[in-house]
Amino acid sequence: MSLTSLILKFAAPVPKPESYSRFLFVGPHPDDVEIGAGATAAKLAKAGKQVTILVCLDGRYGDGLSGGVRGDDLARTRREEAVRAAARLGVKDVLFLGRLDGGVKAVTPEEAAEAEMLCDGGFYEMKDLVQGLADAVTRTQPEVIFGPDPLSRSECHPDHLNAGNAVRQIACFSPYPGIMSRYPAKAPEDGKAGAPVQAAAFYMTARPNRYIRTDGALLKAQLEAIAAHRSQFPGGSAELKSVSTYLRLRSFNFGLHRAGLHGEGFRVYGQTQMHCLPEAGE
Ligand SMILES: [Zn+2]
Repeated sequence: MSLTSLILKFAAPVPKPESYSRFLFVGPHPDDVEIGAGATAAKLAKAGKQVTILVCLDGRYGDGLSGGVRGDDLARTRREEAVRAAARLGVKDVLFLGRLDGGVKAVTPEEAAEAEMLCDGGFYEMKDLVQGLADAVTRTQPEVIFGPDPLSRSECHPDHLNAGNAVRQIACFSPYPGIMSRYPAKAPEDGKAGAPVQAAAFYMTARPNRYIRTDGALLKAQLEAIAAHRSQFPGGSAELKSVSTYLRLRSFNFGLHRAGLHGEGFRVYGQTQMHCLPEAGE
């Protein structure tokens, strides 16, 4: 451990997500939270904590395995699957940014390319994600926001990068009502925007700095939740077997960091790490 890391460890310790009570899990697509952090969401819900899942995009273009179901029909199916999957994790509160459902903006592919509006759930602008997330934060008052790591070097999907960057931005600004009041699409009834967000925790990361211990039952719930996304992981398919094998191995690997057999790993930043402290990102 370098001297800088040692100083940071005492001057700006990385928060422990489990120590908080209210959580918002942000998924670019309907199945991402289950894959990236399903066992942790199930653990927190089981502990009686407030857990909300926010699905950004409707996933209508995830039609590779959906047996010919496409467009609005697939978007509807995936919404139902997301609710069933969340229920398997013990999470009842699932929010959808319906305004981002595919094709809400009538633009040509050329216009979309020019505006750098890249996604697979319909065309949207970054401010749509940021405003939708700001609304969800004001409504659910999370202390920790989970999202996909936008700094993962292998991640190429624009929706994951955009959703992760929206989480970074809103997590940093959430404690500031003056700034947050400029974001929500709908003004909160009591006039208070933002929330006391203490940490951002990124899943699907190659650089975890916090590990949460889980167990076999939580992993089982996670795998069943993923199987609930039948349009993406049909029963008995190679895709379902592949993701299940990966998650079992990942669970074991992360579990070893907490002296257990199961776990999940996250890149966590507290408010003090999010701004003017570049060493915290090393
Ligand atoms: Zn995704």
